[in-house]
Amino acid sequence: MTHPTRFHGQSLRTQISLVFAVLVVGLAVLLSLGFGELLQLRIQRDASRALHTVADNASRQLAQGLYERSRVVQVLADAPGIWEHGLGSVEVRQLLARSQAIDPHSLWIGVADVQGVVRAATKGLLEGESVRERPWFIAGLAQLHVGDVHPAKLLETLLPPNTSGEPHRFVDFAAPIRTGQTTVGVLGMHGSWEWTREVLQSLAPVGIQGASVDLFVFDRTGKLIFAPPEHRSPLEAGGQRLPVPLTVATRESGTRPASVVPWADGKNYLTSSVRMEARNAPSDLGWHIVAREPVEVAFAEANRAVHMAVVIGLLAAVLASGLAWIAVRRLSEDLYVLADAASLVESGKPGATIPLVTHNREVHQLSSALSGMTQRLMAAHEAMEDKVRVRTLELEAANRALDLQARTDALTGLLNRRGFDSRMEFALALARRSGRPLSLVSVDVDHFKRVNDSFGHEAGDEVLRRLALTLQQRLRASDVIARLGGEEFAVVLPDTDLDGARAIAQSIVDGMAAQDDPLVGRITVSAGIASLRPGQDSAHEMMRRSDAALYEAKGQGRNRVCVEPEAGPVLK
Ligand code: GH3
Ligand code: MG
Ligand code: MG
Repeated sequence: MTHPTRFHGQSLRTQISLVFAVLVVGLAVLLSLGFGELLQLRIQRDASRALHTVADNASRQLAQGLYERSRVVQVLADAPGIWEHGLGSVEVRQLLARSQAIDPHSLWIGVADVQGVVRAATKGLLEGESVRERPWFIAGLAQLHVGDVHPAKLLETLLPPNTSGEPHRFVDFAAPIRTGQTTVGVLGMHGSWEWTREVLQSLAPVGIQGASVDLFVFDRTGKLIFAPPEHRSPLEAGGQRLPVPLTVATRESGTRPASVVPWADGKNYLTSSVRMEARNAPSDLGWHIVAREPVEVAFAEANRAVHMAVVIGLLAAVLASGLAWIAVRRLSEDLYVLADAASLVESGKPGATIPLVTHNREVHQLSSALSGMTQRLMAAHEAMEDKVRVRTLELEAANRALDLQARTDALTGLLNRRGFDSRMEFALALARRSGRPLSLVSVDVDHFKRVNDSFGHEAGDEVLRRLALTLQQRLRASDVIARLGGEEFAVVLPDTDLDGARAIAQSIVDGMAAQDDPLVGRITVSAGIASLRPGQDSAHEMMRRSDAALYEAKGQGRNRVCVEPEAGPVLK
C-alpha cells in the first residue's frame, strides 16, 4: 500500500479543483506563450520595418540634398555670360551672394583661379588667399566634385560659431569654371554639416515609438561621422563602427530590415542600416544611414502583449478552478452522505440504511450497489443470528438430555447413583429447612444370583425392570426412586417418618412377593429403612443405616422389612 501523500489526503473536491487549475494554468501558459511569441514576432517585424523606413527616408533626403548642392555648384559654374567679366567681377560677387541667400547652409561660396588664389567669395572671406592644397580645389579643377565631411581649416576662425556650439564641419562641393575649352578656375562651396543634423532631426520620428529612434551616419570606411549630440561622446569613446551584421541589409536585399545589435555604449538596439543611394556619381559618398531604437522600447509592446496573454490565461485558470470547485461540490456532498450512512450502518444503529443518491449516474449506481449489499448483509446477519439461537436451544436440549442420560439408569429408566445422590441431597436440605421427616428405604432382590444362574441374565434384567415398575406404581411422584447398582434399589420418601416408610416398604415387599412370574416364579425382595435424625445426620449416614437394616432383613430370612437397628429419637 502506498503512503497517503499530501495530495491524496485532500478532499475529492480539492483534488479535482487542483488538477483542473494545473491543467488550465499549463494550457493557458502554453497558449499565451505561443500566442505571445507570434504577436511578438509580428510586432518586432513591424518595428523593424518602421525603423528601416526611417533610415531609408533619411538616406533619400541626404542623397537628395547632396545631389541638389552638387547641381547648384555645377549650374553656377556653367552659368553663361558671367565669367567673361573676370573671376573677381561684381557680377560674380552678386551671383555668389544670391546663391548663399537661397541656401543659408552654404557657409562659403567662392571662386579660385587656376593657381588656387581665391578671387571672389561670399562676404569676401579668404579672398586673395591660396586654396591650392585643398582637396576640393584639386578635384574641382578636373570635374564636379563632392567631398566627404571634414573639419573647417581656414574658415573656422572667420565664420560665426555654430548654433550647436560645435566646431564647423563642411561637406565640399566644387566644379571647374570653363570659358570655351579652357578651365579658368574652380567654383567651390562649403556646405555646413549642420544641414545633415537638421535633416536627420527633422526626420527623427517623433511619431514612432515616442522619440526613442536615433539616426546615425557612417562613411564608406565604416567610421561614425554623424551622431545626435547626446549620443556622440560614448560612441566615439567606444570606437563605434558601422554595425557589421547590417552592412549588407539594403532595401532590395530582402534580408531582415532590422536586427538586434550591441552598440559601443554597451546596450542592445534594434538597428536598421541603409546604404545611401546617390543621385549622381560625384555625390556617391558611400554613406550608411543607420536608425536604432533601444530594444526594450522597440519590443515593449510585444512584451506587454505576452504579459497580457499570461495574465488572461491565469485569470482563466482561476475561473476554471472555481467552476470545477462548484461543480464537484454536489458530488462530494453525495459521497459524504453515503459515508455518513455507512458509518451509521457500521455502528449498528437500528434501522440505519444506505440512502439512494440520484444526483449523478455513477454515485447513484454506487449508492444502489451499497444499499443492496448492506441489505443483503443485514439479512444474512439476521439469518445467522436465528440459526445461532436455534442451535443454542438445540444444544441446551442436547445438554439436558445428556445430563438426564448421565443421571438415568438405562435398564430401568430410574435415576442412577449419580442422579440419586443429587436428589437425595436436595431432599435432605429441604427436610432440614422445613423440619419435616425424611426416610430412606434400601431394597435388594433376594437370591438374585440364583435367578441369573437359573434363567439367564436376560431373565434377571426382566426381574429388575419388574421391580422398578412395582416401585413406581406404589410410590408418589414426589418420591425419589433409584437403582444404585446391581439389584440394589433405594427410595427417598420426603415428608415420611419411620412408620410411614415401614408401611410403604412393607407394601413394596408384599407387592413383589405377590407376583408370580411364569418364567422365574416368585421373586421376593428385602428392605431396610432409615429416617432423618436431628443434628448432624447425613445422606451417607442414612444410607449406612438403611443398608444395615437391609442386612438385618436379609439375616432374618429375607422377604421382609427391617428398621435401622440403633433406632434413636427420630423426627415425627
Ligand atoms: P441375597 O439374597 O443375599 O441378596 O443373595 P443374592 O444372590 O441376591 O446376592 P449377591 O450379591 O450374591 O448376588 C447378586 C447378583 O446379582 C450377582 C450378579 O450376577 C447379579 N446382578 C448384578 N447386576 C445385575 C444386572 O444388572 N442384571 C442381572 N441379570 N444380574 C445382575
Ligand atoms: Mg445384593
Ligand atoms: Mg440380593
